[in-house]
Amino acid sequence: MPARETLSVTVVALRVALVAAIIAAITWICYWLTPVNATTAGFAYLVAILFIAAHWGLVESIAGSVGAVLAFNFFFLPPIGRFTIADPQNWVALVAFLATAVTASHFSRQAKLRALDATHRQKEMETLYAFSRSILLIQPSQNVAKQVAMQIAQTFGASSVALYERDSGQVHHSGPEDFPGAKEQLHQAAVEGTFFRDHAARTVITSVRLGAQPIASLGLRDVDLSDSALQGLANLVAIGLERSRAQTSASRAEAARQSDELKSTLLDALTHEFKTPLTSIKAASTALLSSDGLETAQQRELISVVDEEADRLSELVTEAIQMARIEAGRVHLRREDNSVAEIAGAALERFKTQAEGRTITVRIPAGLPPIWVDRELIELALRQLIDNALKYSPLDSPLRVEAEAEGGRVIISVADSGRGIAEAEQTRIFEKFYRADSSRHQVPGAGLGLVIAREIVQMHGGEIWVESKPGEGSIFRFSVPAAAQRPEAGAPIMEDTHADVHQAPHA
Ligand code: ADP
Repeated sequence: MPARETLSVTVVALRVALVAAIIAAITWICYWLTPVNATTAGFAYLVAILFIAAHWGLVESIAGSVGAVLAFNFFFLPPIGRFTIADPQNWVALVAFLATAVTASHFSRQAKLRALDATHRQKEMETLYAFSRSILLIQPSQNVAKQVAMQIAQTFGASSVALYERDSGQVHHSGPEDFPGAKEQLHQAAVEGTFFRDHAARTVITSVRLGAQPIASLGLRDVDLSDSALQGLANLVAIGLERSRAQTSASRAEAARQSDELKSTLLDALTHEFKTPLTSIKAASTALLSSDGLETAQQRELISVVDEEADRLSELVTEAIQMARIEAGRVHLRREDNSVAEIAGAALERFKTQAEGRTITVRIPAGLPPIWVDRELIELALRQLIDNALKYSPLDSPLRVEAEAEGGRVIISVADSGRGIAEAEQTRIFEKFYRADSSRHQVPGAGLGLVIAREIVQMHGGEIWVESKPGEGSIFRFSVPAAAQRPEAGAPIMEDTHADVHQAPHA
């Protein structure tokens, strides 16, 4: 917006009166005090008009010109004492007065406007600079957009500020007045980059862009800023919002790094401090049970409890270690082409004792393509599903392990005819430590098996899901890429050393 010069009517009237006094003074000096000829008097009036035009406005200088013409005509041009001009050449002098007045006042006005504009711009720059300093002091730990809105209201003296954040869809207000309800326009400015100016409501809404991308919008009321300064302000707001975002994500990354370090430390502690004594307890209980040293049935019973609980504890610790390793990113895939039948066979082999007397049907089509997976990890995921199927179904009910090709992937499933899972729990069972109400107090477990299976499957770019009806049983399925889908055929891809996550949980 250009600088404006508005003067009250009283000031102009006063100046016109002063102009009249100046013309009267010149006339008095040139006519009565020291009488001069018409040319000298003409110059004196001209100088006065130039002076008036240079210092005041067009109105004052025209008033001066008219006054000077009248006085010059009456007192210095023949016939003297009358408002008539005998010599037509004197009209030239009169026109010269008027032209001088208009031209000089026009140039003077332009110069004044330019000076005012420069001062205005300088003030804008100073305010923008003050604002840029204030956004450096914003606390990233508190609501940044709210603080930015407050700083704008304070620094620019806005009666109302509204800052709309595109990501969260929230509007942050500041200033003594409410921003006239323009959420729609704020949203449009933040999404499409539209600009709104409402002179009647004294508001302006502009988009806040980071590069070419609008990330927010800013609404201001009663802020007299040029378009370029407004653009500068929007850019500073974008920098402020982005800076705090960068700081927050840097501190999150740091927290995640520290948490990973903590996990690794805990992991090592778990491995050493729990596994070693558990192995000794298990060795001792197994030795006692198989020796003849136990005298009474009660002693045998008690040692069996120790033996079983040592197994259970060992299983829990193993699962916790596996989970922690996966989460800490310490598991690396070693993918090769593998036969599903071999993986399923190896997984079932581990449950030989547990599955004694159970009917387990394995249906794997002969022409099934090999899968491109880390064999040990996929076997581990499959074992989690088989273990659950055995745990959560009656001893006399059958199980099915099946595989089929679909598109570029192979789907492996484990079905049981057990208690099934309520629909509301079907997504929750994949959450860490979640156990369905029905199993919590009846079947031992840590609520980690399915999380481990899901993580492994997802590491392979596959999916895992369940289809179940309470009372009828459950089918857990997961997909993995078929061998033909690997990026480049050839030697197995070796990624880093293999973690000891492959230990059997039920070993
Ligand atoms: P855990 O078996 O140690 O409890 P999981 O993560 O393997 O942990 O399973 C989470 C929960 O999902 C179980 O507690 C159980 O409630 C439910 N669940 C898993 N598999 C089955 C299944 N085959 N039949 C019924 N419920 C199941």
